[in-house]
Amino acid sequence: MYNYKCPVCGEITTSSAPLVRIKCSKCGNEFEPLTPQAQNQYKGAYQKSVFDNGPSGRSRGLAGLLAIFLGSLGVHYFYCGKNTAGIIFLLVTLLSWGYLGIITVILSIITGVFMLSMNEQEFEEKYIYSLSTLPI
Ligand SMILES: [Zn+2]
Repeated sequence: MYNYKCPVCGEITTSSAPLVRIKCSKCGNEFEPLTPQAQNQYKGAYQKSVFDNGPSGRSRGLAGLLAIFLGSLGVHYFYCGKNTAGIIFLLVTLLSWGYLGIITVILSIITGVFMLSMNEQEFEEKYIYSLSTLPI
């Protein structure tokens, strides 16, 4: 059996014979299979140190530490390009310190632990490329 992963949606298309061109059964995207060398390179891209930059150019480890230590100021969201989320956290914390500040501190620590425990691909999908305005 041959498994081909769609580069757009991640759906696995299975075939009993090797194919030169695959049409994704889920999103309709047509793609060529990666050569074994390219597959190994792609895998290697996700097996680096937690502090190395991922394909998006951002470090998951740095994002996680920013969330844990400076998260109540929204710093990890600014770092990930989620500026609206960063401004929301910053304003909530600054305008209500002592009341809602404790909520942004706790949410940020949880987010930071998530960032450090998930893999690179999950991190980028959830915190950088997702359309969510405020991914926790
Ligand atoms: Zn697809």
